[in-house]
Amino acid sequence: MKKICSLFLVMGVLFFVAKFLGIFEQKTTAEQTGSTQTTETKATSTTTSNRETFKQIKIGKEDTTLYADEELTTRLETINGGELTEYLSEAGDSYQIKTNAGTTGYLAKTAGTVLTQETQSQPTSLSDAVIVLDPGHGGEDVGALSNDEQVEEKTITLSTAKKIKAALEAEGATVYLTHETDDFIQLGEICTFSEEKSADVFISLHADSTEIANEATGITTYYYYERNEELAQTIADGFSELPLNSRGITYGNYQVLRENLQPAILVEMGYMNNDSDLAELVTDDYQEKFAESLTNSLIAYFNE
Ligand SMILES: [Zn+2]
Repeated sequence: MKKICSLFLVMGVLFFVAKFLGIFEQKTTAEQTGSTQTTETKATSTTTSNRETFKQIKIGKEDTTLYADEELTTRLETINGGELTEYLSEAGDSYQIKTNAGTTGYLAKTAGTVLTQETQSQPTSLSDAVIVLDPGHGGEDVGALSNDEQVEEKTITLSTAKKIKAALEAEGATVYLTHETDDFIQLGEICTFSEEKSADVFISLHADSTEIANEATGITTYYYYERNEELAQTIADGFSELPLNSRGITYGNYQVLRENLQPAILVEMGYMNNDSDLAELVTDDYQEKFAESLTNSLIAYFNE
């Protein structure tokens, strides 16, 4: 969408022509692959003292190479741009790091930035927790479409997010939405927002789509960092009581997860291009059940 914005500024007229032709009504690829165009998130330190700090190395915008040796000659593997890796040591022009995939190796100092974070203690009750909800898509970025192209993903994610916010607030949680109106927010800004609010849990909400209509059904819960797997599992377990089938949890290389310093998951709430999924997704009843499920799961998660 950043490219689209640039296009808008430079060639406004063409934008409207293109829009009229429906060129931009495709699901953004940034969501699928994780755009590496957005701005760096910056390290923040929360206010209170007496907390331990830990260092991470944030990989720059581009994918980069992990080496076996500190002279950076023997290639080991590729690390995703924007990934937060564990800092181990540094010498000369290289950092020794451990990647999210679990590999220890060396990285050129120019390929990453040191982030010093304070460890954030997890609340023991949802009522003490800060939850950031990210209604996927917005504005010109409509997300996926229903088979009849009448329903846009952004409408469902925003409407559901508001119901989740209300349900969580009723339990005393502090809740922020990355956007409360139909606006597009850059993926990098979403991560920064989550960090600024010191989210105890960040949840990005989406609805899926497949190449072929009515090919797939159900809810999928994604995590990027292994440390968020338990959170994802707790949330996914709760979905088993919903009318739509829970497809379980899986690793997902999404920018809003990869570049997020806070505990983060992404939920695809059902398939936009599955007629029976959509029939549920659009209803207040389903959205309220979804909000209730998420709330109960978060109560369990914080009480553990
Ligand atoms: Zn989406």
